Amino acid sequence: MAGTLYLVGTPIGNLGDLSPRAAETLASVDFIAAEDTRVSLKLLNHFGIKKPLVSYYEHNKGESGARLIERLLAGESCALVTDAGMPAISDPGEDIVRLCAENGVPVSVIPGPCAAPSALAVSGLPTGRFTFEGFLPVGNKERREQLQSLSGEKRTMIFYEAPHKLRKTLSDLCDSFGADRRISLVRELTKIHEEVIRVSLGEAALLYSEAEPRGEFVLVVEGAKEDSAPEISLDEAVGLVLAETEKGVPLKLAAKEISARCGIAKSVLYNEAVKRR
Ligand code: SAM
Repeated sequence: MAGTLYLVGTPIGNLGDLSPRAAETLASVDFIAAEDTRVSLKLLNHFGIKKPLVSYYEHNKGESGARLIERLLAGESCALVTDAGMPAISDPGEDIVRLCAENGVPVSVIPGPCAAPSALAVSGLPTGRFTFEGFLPVGNKERREQLQSLSGEKRTMIFYEAPHKLRKTLSDLCDSFGADRRISLVRELTKIHEEVIRVSLGEAALLYSEAEPRGEFVLVVEGAKEDSAPEISLDEAVGLVLAETEKGVPLKLAAKEISARCGIAKSVLYNEAVKRR
């Protein structure tokens, strides 16, 4: 009979957040698969847990995943942990769970801390309906397309971001959603310097053009206002932008003016107009 893969949530900062059930599971499995074995070893040492560790991370997940499945099918039990939080949430883990499902290996979850819902809870923004966007794509084209697809999103949006990419992301969010949109920058959750900065996107971009972003961030962004829904379609709005440019108005200015009139983000209008010109 196949062994079980346990997805074990671990602290996102404060070690006191490891649940008793997570500790019991880590202590009882045959082996632990970790994103970074050095990081997980510190956690295990802190709790006095001694277990064989194997590495399972983004760049070896094909090979390592196949070996994990073999061992699970042979009857061993395994706990999967990542550097912080819930495995499989913007973390390697998603693929091994799919492989287990395909191979009839049971998967069980030991829920624990996760940065996204914790940040949402403390953000002060509406929590009734939200969308988790994880990390925005790095490539310019994919990034633009993703932001365009979110331009009319009314639900609160949650993004993960690394500190060295924060400035660019704030500037892109500002271009796509407008400088007035509210954002909560939730920093260093459960750690000594935990902080929630509740400002507009314009203020956030300005703040971090001066201050160096430090620590781990979740960005919680207010959804589009109900009444800001465009009254005309994207097609019609782009038509208006192109009509303006035919009169000699520069494209950027035309996109800005039509954006103010119809509520569709100027970057969306600009990019669509470039495509259709
Ligand atoms: N699996 C993790 C989870 O359950 O939250 C997320 C892993 S993802 C690779 C790392 C991102 O999570 C960071 O770039 C940051 O956006 C967010 N994050 C993790 N720990 C955090 C913390 N203590 N405070 C704020 N954000 C955190």
